[in-house]
Amino acid sequence: MTRVLLLMTANTYRASDFLEAAERLGVRVTVGTDRPNVLENVVPGSALTLDFQAPKRAAGAIRAFAEAYPIEAVVAVDDDTVPLAAAASKALGLKSNPVEAAFAVRSKYQTRQILEEDGLPSPGFRLLSVEDSPEALARTVPYPCVLKPTFLAASRGVIRADDPEEFAAAFRRITAILREPETAARGGDEAGMILAEDYIPGKEVALEGILEGGELRVLALFDKPDPMEGPYFEETIYVTPSRLPDETQETIADTAARALRALGIGEGPVHVELRVNEGGAWVIDVAARSIGGRCSRALRFEGDASLEGLILGRALGREAPAAGRMEGASGVMMIPIPGAGILRGVDGEEEALAVEGVEEVEITIHPGGRVLPLPEGDRYLGFIFARGESTEKVEAALRAALDRLRFRIEPE
Ligand code: ADP
Ligand code: CA
Repeated sequence: MTRVLLLMTANTYRASDFLEAAERLGVRVTVGTDRPNVLENVVPGSALTLDFQAPKRAAGAIRAFAEAYPIEAVVAVDDDTVPLAAAASKALGLKSNPVEAAFAVRSKYQTRQILEEDGLPSPGFRLLSVEDSPEALARTVPYPCVLKPTFLAASRGVIRADDPEEFAAAFRRITAILREPETAARGGDEAGMILAEDYIPGKEVALEGILEGGELRVLALFDKPDPMEGPYFEETIYVTPSRLPDETQETIADTAARALRALGIGEGPVHVELRVNEGGAWVIDVAARSIGGRCSRALRFEGDASLEGLILGRALGREAPAAGRMEGASGVMMIPIPGAGILRGVDGEEEALAVEGVEEVEITIHPGGRVLPLPEGDRYLGFIFARGESTEKVEAALRAALDRLRFRIEPE
């Protein structure tokens, strides 16, 4: 039976959707994670503990494992596993992105350097050391700017600053995040750096795509209708199809394809975020993995295939389905975090589900769990999914559903 290796962090939101897709396709799965997994001893070959910080060594471990359990595809589920997926594929002789490209796209700084060299619309940037004086650095950057770590996701540690005082406060706040032991270990050298970028105004979109032999196929373009103007950049609503004019959508797809070509990313799933204004489509973020959180559930393809089903099928070299998105509009809301504290409970789930078009409400923090807003927070409170005949209706359904939810959060 065919076996795929799914590389994912222990705290991923993506495991169940990938495992379900593998089961539907009738393929065996080995889960490669960064923490020892009890399954490892229960079901032989089902799990493998790997050091994502040492991709070369981990790729060797995967090659040895594959002698007993042959692997036909390796899929990076989260950003942290992108370099290892490339290194392991290379060691196994499987088609994948070049290892250097996988490392480059993993770093927001290297990504900026490559996009700039290639002349793509991408914000001006400078790399700063957390050892330097924020007050001195604050005098060297144009405003408004955005400060961010180079290796985190879900807007963690991303802060806008409009003047030197805000810069210094943001810089210190990000430095504290980078010094949390787990984050410092994950980031290695990059935990000692902060990237400062020029702030790009405009409408933000997210492009979900899949590459094969360097060709980008756009699977969905999402509008992000809530303004993301900072100082923190909490993600909320994603709705598709986009309402932007066709011509703008073409510019977005062309710009994303150029960025991926420049970065050398030519295989597998991609998630690209861009901002659109009079100056064109600006590349904000490029990831060589599929959409994060549980958001992929907002997408459904011909034959009722999931995004994960397409990704696994593609990785195994199976005949690609037509991959047209199912008719109609769909979307997801990443539930905004109202405040910090302990989640005691959520009321109104039934009422939210009763909103026309709403398909699923999932709260992902358990009662008693900690809720922490951005820029420090790194867990989603939950997700609302909706489907309908138009993007407007889906957006309205998501907002109506949120209105009906009440979160009981007890300050700590
Ligand atoms: P992450 O990988 O953590 O999601 P991003 O670089 O994508 O980090 O930044 C998160 C969000 O912050 C973006 O989706 C965007 O809304 C905003 N943002 C980031 N950089 C800029 C920028 N240079 N100009 C304007 N907004 C930005
Ligand atoms: Ca992003």
